[in-house]
Amino acid sequence: MNFKEFGLDARIMRGIEAVGYTTPTPIQQQAIPVVLQGRDVLGLAQTGTGKTAAFMLPILQRLTRGPLRRPRVLIVAPTRELAEQTNEAARDLGRFTKVRSVSIYGGVGKRPQLEALRRGVEIVVACPGRLLDHIGEGDIDLSGIEVLVLDEADRMCDMGFLPDIRRILKHLPARRQTLFFSATMPEDIRKLSRDILHDPVTVQIGMIAPAKTVSHALYPVPQKSKKGLLLAMLEQTATGRVLIFTRTKRRARFLARDLEKKGYRVSALQGNMSQNKRQRSINGFRDGQYDILVATDIAARGIDVTEISHVINFDMPDTVDAYTHRIGRTGRALQSGEAFTFAVAGDEPIVRDIERLLGANIERRRLPGFDYGGYSPENEFHTRPAPQQRNNGRRRSNGAQRRRRNHSAR
Ligand code: AMP
Repeated sequence: MNFKEFGLDARIMRGIEAVGYTTPTPIQQQAIPVVLQGRDVLGLAQTGTGKTAAFMLPILQRLTRGPLRRPRVLIVAPTRELAEQTNEAARDLGRFTKVRSVSIYGGVGKRPQLEALRRGVEIVVACPGRLLDHIGEGDIDLSGIEVLVLDEADRMCDMGFLPDIRRILKHLPARRQTLFFSATMPEDIRKLSRDILHDPVTVQIGMIAPAKTVSHALYPVPQKSKKGLLLAMLEQTATGRVLIFTRTKRRARFLARDLEKKGYRVSALQGNMSQNKRQRSINGFRDGQYDILVATDIAARGIDVTEISHVINFDMPDTVDAYTHRIGRTGRALQSGEAFTFAVAGDEPIVRDIERLLGANIERRRLPGFDYGGYSPENEFHTRPAPQQRNNGRRRSNGAQRRRRNHSAR
């Protein structure tokens, strides 16, 4: 199958060619025709599947006709990074059309956003908080919205945005097309989707299991030896671009600083940094100025860097979903990657949950030549018979639930 079969406008086809896509990904094959028909869509797709273009291309097609310079499409995203990435996709794919888009999020000045709104845009890509500010101040008229996209709805829920979403919905016309994307379907998300979707077509891609192109390994280690293990691993392993995840903003900052002292080209990406600094880190990582990015979960949402060779979970993610999203950063767009996870005592329940999701045991590894002191990784994290794969990644063990921490730390 190729993109010609969708019957898209020639200007959009030029955009697709310019970004270098030749074959639609499975989610694009499934979703583009239904979105073009104007149907509501419930898209169960993780990041890295090509879902952005799956909704953006038919949206651009709609916008080639009808009024210009007024908001007609609203895309709501949980983080600034994802909003920025989606805005870039609109600009890249729509570069030969007259369509304009703006991204709206907090942490930066309002003025450029206001100016863009005044000049006139068709696509608004927004994070909930700042969008509500603009709505409250009468800066934006959403009465002409024809299409609403909720992207990464489960993540918005995790971040406590559901009340904001419901508030935003009140400002939108009831008659509209709604596209709802989520990697997982916890009950509150299912309810929201039921409330706002009208007779949706469900499009499901690789129900939340992490990309098959990624290989996974678990490194049991005592907490105090983590940094030593990481340094030894970076020395021994032929890595390209490495994305390291820590549990807190503080740990990200300190680990990045320590790696820098050891001579690595590294930057941090965490929620205490200004938007400009975050963007500089992401750009530097993408451009090859940095080989390593040390990030927290929330800050890393929506990083679109295709050549990440390794994701290292310096700290275990709190939830299976977080694991999926972290690992979704590597193996993107069919490249292969490796995911290494450091596991300490107490991480057993979440490891079991992840293995259930993968439908396989994660290989336990000892880093050759590393001095573990008196600790023997072989004696930790015993594998069990290969677990059955679940078709729903949301159930967590009680232990994993207890481990969920306050997002403000990230
Ligand atoms: P997404 O899931 O939308 O975040 O997309 C993941 C990555 O795949 C992004 O880097 C996209 O630019 C890329 N991508 C999306 N669609 C295609 C395609 N049809 N062919 C090749 N790469 C694609």
